[in-house]
Amino acid sequence: MSEQSILPSDFKERVREAVVRLKMEGIILWKPYVDDDEITKEFDVSIVDRSVGCTEETCDHSTHDPASPSLKIIPRAGRLVYLGVLQYGPIRRTYYALLTNNNTKYYEVVEEPNFYTKIFLIDPAAVPDFMLESFGE
Ligand SMILES: [Zn+2]
Repeated sequence: MSEQSILPSDFKERVREAVVRLKMEGIILWKPYVDDDEITKEFDVSIVDRSVGCTEETCDHSTHDPASPSLKIIPRAGRLVYLGVLQYGPIRRTYYALLTNNNTKYYEVVEEPNFYTKIFLIDPAAVPDFMLESFGE
């Protein structure tokens, strides 16, 4: 008997779901959780990678954030479009648009080495103009 055949079907279904979510379009964030309603309203949150970072119990984590897994936020609806990235020294700001039937939301992801990734819903005017140029007709 093969290993596969002895797995219960509900477990196999959960595995299928995990594989699908791992392949889905989304934004990867190194942070322990997403608690911003503006984000969780539009995206599902999935834990997609093991923890990395400091696990020292006696460390005050003043120069870095403690260990965390990586999350992926996956749009519940619409199409996520990568717009581009700006580098400010070691800090990266990456811009995305979430296109739905009747509107567009813009997000900025801020990555700083050794600190949790931040994500913000931003005003359309805050998106760098040059990133939108290639979408012109
Ligand atoms: Zn630490």
